[in-house]
Amino acid sequence: MTIGILSIDQGTTSTRAIVFNKQGQALCSAQQEFTQLYPDNGWVEHDPEEIWSTTLSVCSEVLDKAQDAGIRVAGIGITNQRETTVVWDKATGKPLYNAIVWQDRRTASICADMSHKSKKITAKTGLLLDPYFSATKVAWILDNVEGARAKADNGEVAFGTIDTFLIWRLTNGQSHVTDTTNASRTNLFNIYDMQWDNELCAWFNVPQLVLPKVLDCASDFGVTAKGVLPYELPIAGVAGDQQAALVGQCGFNKGALKSTYGTGCFALLNTGTEPLASCSRLLTTVGFSLNGETHYALEGSIFTAGANVQWLRDGIQVIDTAKASQPLAESLEYDHGVVLVPAFAGLGAPHWEPNARASIYGMTRDTSNAHFARAALEAVCYQTYDLLVAMKQDGVESTTVLVDGGMVANDWLCQFLADMVQVDIQRPTNMESTALGAAFLAGLQLGIYADIDEVSQLKAIERVFTPTIDTNIRQACLKRWQAAVKSTLMFHEIG
Ligand code: ADP
Repeated sequence: MTIGILSIDQGTTSTRAIVFNKQGQALCSAQQEFTQLYPDNGWVEHDPEEIWSTTLSVCSEVLDKAQDAGIRVAGIGITNQRETTVVWDKATGKPLYNAIVWQDRRTASICADMSHKSKKITAKTGLLLDPYFSATKVAWILDNVEGARAKADNGEVAFGTIDTFLIWRLTNGQSHVTDTTNASRTNLFNIYDMQWDNELCAWFNVPQLVLPKVLDCASDFGVTAKGVLPYELPIAGVAGDQQAALVGQCGFNKGALKSTYGTGCFALLNTGTEPLASCSRLLTTVGFSLNGETHYALEGSIFTAGANVQWLRDGIQVIDTAKASQPLAESLEYDHGVVLVPAFAGLGAPHWEPNARASIYGMTRDTSNAHFARAALEAVCYQTYDLLVAMKQDGVESTTVLVDGGMVANDWLCQFLADMVQVDIQRPTNMESTALGAAFLAGLQLGIYADIDEVSQLKAIERVFTPTIDTNIRQACLKRWQAAVKSTLMFHEIG
């Protein structure tokens, strides 16, 4: 009988369940989208009950498929959208409020009021003081839902990121736990001593009583309660989505860099077992922790990556499909002259200018949809180059970029990326790095894999893209990009 591991990938727009075999091949999967709620300007919420019902539904579907295919599922790994915050009543398991999603900006004024603490917060958490992270979202729920603060002070409510909420539900309230990677995204967790921090909890006004217990990524997180899934299963691996992708790409060693190109882009660089404070406005975060040893990472994010291509397709409608961007980009020479700075949602690392706006430079009457497509793809590569420069300034250099996400199906993009960053780009055979990472973590805990060396042997590369571009042409491309970013930032400063 084949042994399988069930990976639950609870993302921002959909919930997926995939059963992997020991070799890391996806055997069966199910996926359901759920509702995005935008109740006010800058507010983004999910209904936790819908997250739960889609999770139950996709898990039941793949477990049935697995049973029919003669696969014995040994346990569960969970990976999730990070930072998204749920607070629920411990007695009933009912959420007090919708999940406040990572993108939600409603707590910007709370952060502004705390700005005098921002350096101290970064020194403990490796993060920035920003509405993005969980702490101000928890405080907002406790202060805005009637009776919530009193209940929290009495230990009657629980806080969790999505992993914690799902584990609570799967175990019928037996486990209130999270893993180190998710904890490291809350702004309440000290990444130097790897504990919830008394001072941070006091500053953000979050009582420690509501916080989950923090475990290594491969641990006993609990066992699903009878009747919740078709049969009981141990939950043995947990990591936030970007960290899970690092594990899924076998980025276990110092210097490993994975970059995921989906709607946005998130690059995580493994910096080894000591946290590295960034001087380039990158985040310092937990990469993964196993057997009591923590591996840290530097993280840089590009707010829009594939979303640039979506804008071309659905917004200004100059391409029919995302795929069409490749032949259009290939139809132009390097000196086509058009640069897009895709600050549609501001500029992420290393600029951190959330209010900057997108701009396009160098157009003539000949400018066509090909220029737009090419400039949109090039921009993602230039932004990755900027992240790698920042990482190098922080003292860690990578010799390879491990890529994944929907955009890297585009061969032209991968080649231009290699040309700009001047290191090899490795594209894996299995593009489901995030779900695979959660399965690897569970497999380690369940003894399916002896250690990370055994997991690393499963790494399968589909294609390597090697830099080939002429140095002068590359320099000219980067110069145009840098000038365009400078202008965009200047335009923003004028207001
Ligand atoms: P997410 O997980 O964020 O939903 P995916 O990893 O599924 O994103 O990637 C989807 C994104 O990739 C979309 O924004 C889409 O525009 C982009 N994309 C998909 N295929 C291509 C392609 N061949 N070339 C360029 N972009 C693409």
